[in-house]
Amino acid sequence: MVDLVIRNGVISDGTRRVVLAIDRGRIVGVGADLEFEGARVLDADGGLIVPGFVESHMHLDVALMNDGKRPGRPRPFETPAELNRMMDERRLAFTREDIEQRATRALALASRHGITTLRAQCHVDATVGLKHLEALLAVRQAQAERVTVQIVCFPHQGLLDQPRTLDLYREAFRLGADIMGCASNLDPRAVGVEGVRRHIDTALELAMALDVDLDLHADLGLPQQVTLDELETVYAARRALEVGYVGRMTAGHVCALDSAGPAVAAAAIEAIHTAGMSVISQPDLYRLGRTDQRGVRRGLTRVKALLKAGVNVAFASNNVRDAYRPLGNLNLLEEGLILAYGAHMDSVAELDTLLQMCTTNAARALRLEGYGLTLGDRADLVVLDAPTPSAALVDQAEKRFVIKEGRLVATNRRVSEATVLSAL
Ligand SMILES: [Zn+2]
Repeated sequence: MVDLVIRNGVISDGTRRVVLAIDRGRIVGVGADLEFEGARVLDADGGLIVPGFVESHMHLDVALMNDGKRPGRPRPFETPAELNRMMDERRLAFTREDIEQRATRALALASRHGITTLRAQCHVDATVGLKHLEALLAVRQAQAERVTVQIVCFPHQGLLDQPRTLDLYREAFRLGADIMGCASNLDPRAVGVEGVRRHIDTALELAMALDVDLDLHADLGLPQQVTLDELETVYAARRALEVGYVGRMTAGHVCALDSAGPAVAAAAIEAIHTAGMSVISQPDLYRLGRTDQRGVRRGLTRVKALLKAGVNVAFASNNVRDAYRPLGNLNLLEEGLILAYGAHMDSVAELDTLLQMCTTNAARALRLEGYGLTLGDRADLVVLDAPTPSAALVDQAEKRFVIKEGRLVATNRRVSEATVLSAL
């Protein structure tokens, strides 16, 4: 007798119905015609079984700050600098209780949408101190049975006013933070190419001293032109190679790669690939190009070129109903569909790739161990109401069962469009 058996599931390669058996939080059987008796049995009814969705870049401490009943941007903006100011104004009013309450609700939403691991960016700086971190640490512990949370120290006010800020960061890691963050665009002292490099070097030195991974907000702008030496990802990749830090960096956004000419872009992608850097695209279509009068730029990185070169590319929600983005549901199938439109990814194979990007690729970016659907893997998985990966994206399939470490943590039932139409 095992803890849980899922019958009639399909795994990514096609049509064969499989049985998946779980015991003590691990996958102990997967294949056709397996005989397992389960304390609990679920019928997948021909639905696709995927490993749990991995939200690889999300600002959990500031999520859901807007009016839930009337979502939308309270006032318009034109430039990213205005968004930064709006966040600064709003966050000063946060209390620890308020952060805990919103983060808990956000994780409930994430779990409902099949997310079993989430990398949270968390403000740590001289103004807010460790308040956001202490709140997220408490929420992480309370919600551990639902979602595994990695915490990134996000330098919302920069890093170069050291040593005070760096002391704060050392304390953050002592308390339980996991990943060093980096955001030169928010560092008032990171002026010019040299200032940006000093910011990256400071973050990298601390990450190496503490033996933690580095998660960069990188190349967030959209200049008219950009050279190879101006790209933050290229500099960080070169440094990773120089100091022996290959495979330990993720870079979010990377919008400026879209500004680069073909030769610069190809060389940049080569550097990113060689450094084993993962790129996390946010379907970031809302933030940039607001004043463009024609040929409106949307700031999406070169997703297809990066994938083609063999770079590990994932996508993530980034901001969910906060001062930056008033939209979002922590639903990676929804973000994937937006990326399908934005990055021109609509073939069957490309839609299949999108599902991989928010599961296996994102898990690789977060360096998760025991992730997948093979024997011995941690039983974090989702049963979808769709038979194939591309159908999951196009149909925006419901997540019928969400299982975290072998426990059923969410059950959802959607009334399909076909049912609605047939009832008319
Ligand atoms: Zn971010």
